[in-house]
Amino acid sequence: MSSPISIHWFRQDLRLSDNPALCDAAQSGKVLPIYVLDDINAGEYAMGAASRVWLHHSLVSLNKSLNGGLCVYQGDPLQVLQQLIRDYSITSVHWNRCYEPWRMERDTVIKKTLQACGIEVHSHNGSLLWEPWTIQKKDGTPYKVFTPFYRKGCLLSEAPRQPLDIPELSLMQDTKHAVTIADLGLLPNLPWGKTMMDEWIVGEAAAQERIDDFLESGVENYKEGRNFPAKQHVSRLSPHLHFGELSPHQAWYAARASEENDQVDCFCSELGWREFSYSQLTFHHDLPKKNLQKKFDAFPWKTNDAHLRAWQQGRTGIPIVDAGMRELWETGYMHNRVRMIVGSFLVKNLLLDWREGERWFWECLLDADLANNSASWQWVAGCGADAAPYFRVFNPVTQGEKFDGRGEYTRRFVPELKTLPDKWLFRPWEAPDDILKEAGIVLGETYPEPIVDIKASRQLALYAFTSLKKL
Ligand code: FAD
Repeated sequence: MSSPISIHWFRQDLRLSDNPALCDAAQSGKVLPIYVLDDINAGEYAMGAASRVWLHHSLVSLNKSLNGGLCVYQGDPLQVLQQLIRDYSITSVHWNRCYEPWRMERDTVIKKTLQACGIEVHSHNGSLLWEPWTIQKKDGTPYKVFTPFYRKGCLLSEAPRQPLDIPELSLMQDTKHAVTIADLGLLPNLPWGKTMMDEWIVGEAAAQERIDDFLESGVENYKEGRNFPAKQHVSRLSPHLHFGELSPHQAWYAARASEENDQVDCFCSELGWREFSYSQLTFHHDLPKKNLQKKFDAFPWKTNDAHLRAWQQGRTGIPIVDAGMRELWETGYMHNRVRMIVGSFLVKNLLLDWREGERWFWECLLDADLANNSASWQWVAGCGADAAPYFRVFNPVTQGEKFDGRGEYTRRFVPELKTLPDKWLFRPWEAPDDILKEAGIVLGETYPEPIVDIKASRQLALYAFTSLKKL
């Protein structure tokens, strides 16, 4: 009889180190490592275009680490697994848990079906510091506010486990059904797919390097510096964390080992926000679609395709907003401060539904993450858990002046305003004619006029919000 084989099903854990399910599979004998691109069960939550580009490179990198041993498939994972079980002497299947409702539903069905055929199924926690269902209030209900969630819930619970080493692996391959990574067709036929990746190195080794670099030079002023998009004080780990090239445990303990205590606490609390998003998604499966605060169901959102397109394309005439939206398109990333500014502008100045913003981010972000994206959009719109109050409307002019005072970020992504003096950079529509002329700017021609009046649109937003309070 042939020796037993375990399948390790890679999902959002595209790494070999600190991989509990892989360690478990390795203990059971030979390991068949697989990845399945599952657009069938994902439906409307299938990965967006930018995420697919990252996934392609991440799979290439993982395959290299496995000496070419990664077996890749496309389709329904249950059918893939059943076929492998029919063709090889598979005794167990191992995976790290995912938390998106559609994935949890799918995995439950797969687990039951395989167990009914006598296959062992082992699932592990490889993606979160604390399982969402272990962090609840004393009365057994989920936390609604971040600070008690993190301070009382997370920090007073058992510490996250220490990262695990890479296990000794004895691999086997499926030569009958696997396809190539290229066959998955993840790369678009557009130059965008290449230029967007200019600033990124994908994969487990790159993720390790990025956190090392961050802890060496970025973290020292994280607390304050993380607000300034032109500065190098954020980690840019989000796509690595999303695809599991780095586990939050590795990030947490690497940071904890650094001496910058205050700064590290702040960085770890951002990892805590990630946990909070997952908690919200776990307890509210409709988080990507429905306002957590029901009174927002009556909010009078506008429909305006021209405004939505101008926002998406970075042509609103509001320089910091345009810089953010162009950063997103050009690099697949946007700094957190600017995500909040462009989000506030969409929802509160343009009065467009937060779900429009969520959808565009889903398509364009390399770190698009169902929990983080939907929780953050609800936060921006004021309808989420512990959200910014709706009446607090970011002023994109003062935000630009405060957080990009020298205009380095804005000038990088909106080069047509490059020679405009700092004083007018964030409100070119107020600049005197001779200043505009000297900078070679013709509003409405070389750079758009603002698509809305900031003050008037703020008033409209407040009025709309007040109408909700009367309900
Ligand atoms: P750092 O400041 O270095 O933080 C380290 C890690 O902590 C991040 O990689 C991330 O995993 C986590 N983190 C940081 N801030 C937050 C936060 N506010 N909420 C949850 N986790 C956080 N993040 C995503 O990963 N995917 C998304 O799809 C996403 N969509 C967003 C949409 C909007 C409208 C907003 C306002 C924020 C969104 N965020 C999202 C959260 C945040 O902007 C990014 O996680 C962060 O900018 C990533 O950059 P970084 O890795 O340099 O962050």
